[in-house]
Amino acid sequence: MIWNAAWREQVWSELSEPWDLIVIGGGITGAGILREAARNGWRSLLVEANDFASGTSSRSSKLVHGGLRYLRDGKLRLTLVSVRERQHLLKQGRGLINPLGFLLANYAGDRIPAWVFGLGLVMYDLMGLQWGHRHYDSAMLRSFCPQLSANGLSGGFRYFDAQTDDARLVLRVIREAGFAGGVALNYARVESLIRSTKGQVHGVVLSDQAPDGHGRSIEVYARQVVNATGAWADRLRVDIGSPARMRRLRGSHLVFPWENLPLTRAVTFLHPYDGRPVFAFPWEGVTIFGTTDTEHKDDLHLDPRASPREIEYLLEGIVYGFPDAAIQSSDLRCTFAGVRGVIDTGKQIPSQESREHVIWNEQGLLTVTGGKLTTFQAMARDALGTIRGNLPPPIRKARSKRVLDEIDLEVAKQSNLPASTRLRLAGRYGHDIKDVLALIDRNEDLTIGNSPHTWAELCWAARGEAVVHLDDLMLRRVRLGLTLPEGGTRELEHARSWVQTELGWDDQRWLKEVDAYHKLWHTAYSPAA
Ligand code: FAD
Repeated sequence: MIWNAAWREQVWSELSEPWDLIVIGGGITGAGILREAARNGWRSLLVEANDFASGTSSRSSKLVHGGLRYLRDGKLRLTLVSVRERQHLLKQGRGLINPLGFLLANYAGDRIPAWVFGLGLVMYDLMGLQWGHRHYDSAMLRSFCPQLSANGLSGGFRYFDAQTDDARLVLRVIREAGFAGGVALNYARVESLIRSTKGQVHGVVLSDQAPDGHGRSIEVYARQVVNATGAWADRLRVDIGSPARMRRLRGSHLVFPWENLPLTRAVTFLHPYDGRPVFAFPWEGVTIFGTTDTEHKDDLHLDPRASPREIEYLLEGIVYGFPDAAIQSSDLRCTFAGVRGVIDTGKQIPSQESREHVIWNEQGLLTVTGGKLTTFQAMARDALGTIRGNLPPPIRKARSKRVLDEIDLEVAKQSNLPASTRLRLAGRYGHDIKDVLALIDRNEDLTIGNSPHTWAELCWAARGEAVVHLDDLMLRRVRLGLTLPEGGTRELEHARSWVQTELGWDDQRWLKEVDAYHKLWHTAYSPAA
């Protein structure tokens, strides 16, 4: 399944045929709904205004987790569903969703006493039907993480969650939807909704945002339209006369070279300034520290970025937790920020707003928003359950309840790569593993810089994964924009020899894309943004 320029044209030529379902938004929520609908045999289309996962779903904390914090807030159902989904994802998404050990450090003067965490972890483990947590004194805790501040450390807990590559998770779900017969198109923006004479939404006006699309637009009709536009959800709702209900909260992260804080597991503690939980964790060869939770008032058209105050707050946190690492702002490799849409209940402290997903059915427009990366499958089932009556009987019942398809690991075994690389590639590329491996076999130098990404992945993405702009490739298909110095720009000249022909770009287009990537990275990701 090669998604290239010819494929885009083919999809555009077929849009006018009526659909059972149109899903607006190509983040994890839309991806999950498309996959589930396609598995039921419904003729389903997903449209994304920018790149797949370019919204919040590539800017999360990358955890597949129950959310210990939500338990403390009394959100038992949310935690239970999330823990169960985490377990499914760990089992079925090996290589993409990996277990992650956590150390939860308790300090004298913490606003939450240690026993509360202990109780929470008992419930957390019971929900996941596993017994992984354990209490340690401060000396043991520091033997696991020598960089952890000893000042006031009274002990802490070990427990387990999981982590992923969020953008790759979205891509894997969307590609699986494609293999099941669904159609997904990036750089296709819904400009407006089309309503019947009775006022019911039954279509969308779509415009092509890709440079080769020359601004064309088309009306597309469906029995059901789903609004999965995350933090943007109110825009379409307001267009049909519904009241705005969303509040936007920004969470930012700092990214450091792993050598600056060489963690082997995640470490969490309460920020000394406001008592919020913050955490540092290893990911793709870097160490990430997050996160904030602050009102996002900026225009949603602009890429969100960490504010100077957020960077300062996070730096204070990391220096407090790991004083011996002597981290300074000059060590920062990059920052990234994501915006969460939550229902506005007017809570004074943003973190107190609920993270549970909501479903609103308004004049034929089904809005699904909120929730978490972790719970995408549960959200998809809820959404489709609500609109089942508007859709024809499923042509085929989704054969299994799997969150991710089973991948033939035997194919991967035929290559002579280390087992860990094979598993990693199988997890990231799913059914496409054979195509990626075929590229690796032809090429001698495997990884890019000191990242775990291979040149073959970059090449495969350029060839078959609907890359329209350079940032799609650098920030989401592979994550070099977050993990290499200067957003990986030093690797671009070498990358050019691998990808320019695959992308079908002439020299002028390549230079234009490089320039645009530089600007984007410096505006939204650079430490000095
Ligand atoms: P998005 O990913 O934002 O997707 C919506 C898409 O709709 C966008 O790509 C946008 O371009 C598109 N769109 C908007 N308007 C239109 C239009 N008119 N036409 C077509 N397309 C349109 N969850 C976890 O499970 N684990 C975590 O560790 C975690 N960390 C988080 C950290 C932060 C800082 C934040 C903010 C959230 C975090 N979450 C986490 C929550 C999780 O990331 C989100 O719930 C999830 O990514 C939202 O996905 P979505 O598909 O609903 O929205």
